[in-house]
Amino acid sequence: MVKPKTGITGLPLGTKESGSRVDFDRNAFSFLVETKGPRFAWARAATCPCQGNNDQTQQPEPNCEFCKGKGRFHFGPEKFYVIPPDEAGDLDELQKILLEKDGAALIRGTMLGAMRSDEEFTRVGPWLFGNAYVTVRPENPIGFHDRLIALDAELTFDEILDAGDPNEPLALHFLAVGVNCIQAVHPTIKRWQEGVDFEVVNGLVVWTSDAPDEDTRISVHYRFHPQWTVWSQPQSFRIASTKAKLAGVPPPKTPLGTPEKLVIRAMVRLEHLEDP
Ligand SMILES: [Zn+2]
Repeated sequence: MVKPKTGITGLPLGTKESGSRVDFDRNAFSFLVETKGPRFAWARAATCPCQGNNDQTQQPEPNCEFCKGKGRFHFGPEKFYVIPPDEAGDLDELQKILLEKDGAALIRGTMLGAMRSDEEFTRVGPWLFGNAYVTVRPENPIGFHDRLIALDAELTFDEILDAGDPNEPLALHFLAVGVNCIQAVHPTIKRWQEGVDFEVVNGLVVWTSDAPDEDTRISVHYRFHPQWTVWSQPQSFRIASTKAKLAGVPPPKTPLGTPEKLVIRAMVRLEHLEDP
């Protein structure tokens, strides 16, 4: 009979048992989130009332002016800074627009694996199935379907659309950080370049010369701040019992200790990869 190998037990040499604790140190988690976590524009999500108007399909109204047929709308969480405090760091114009669009709150969160560097995004391309895990502070109770826009990261996206009125700014699916290429094949094969034929202003393409005709089909390849959707019920009410004294919290009176809210972890999915 093969005996299982004995596991390793016992305290490392010289370690004392007294003074150790098994509960989570909430401050240590918040410290990591604040010092290592990139910034997100957090907006809550709710179902648009247009959904269910069609008795047969229960689909959202495709022509709904409010949600644009998506079936969801976003709004800012209450009781957050309208103007981000100094701790939020510098914000460029596009980042400010993304925050103001839905009244989003600026929060920090650590994202597992996916967000260590912009290079990692570029290398992996349309990244796996677009899933990741995000951890935020317990004060930011993100919910199912909420939107998190990664203000400090970029992804590339490309889409085909009609050029539209050349005198109007061209809106893309996402607000663009910058445009890498605009290409047409009809009526002639032609390419437009940022800084030469157009500028990107507040996330929109503004033609400066030689704009394509209104009905020209163009392919636009551009960079944007990734938009994630919370795709699991986050553990918003995860609570640990602690026997340590906390600032502003009376010492524990029961053998169970003082309840303490913990960091929130949720699965998120890239918005444009939501539909399989
Ligand atoms: Zn709607």
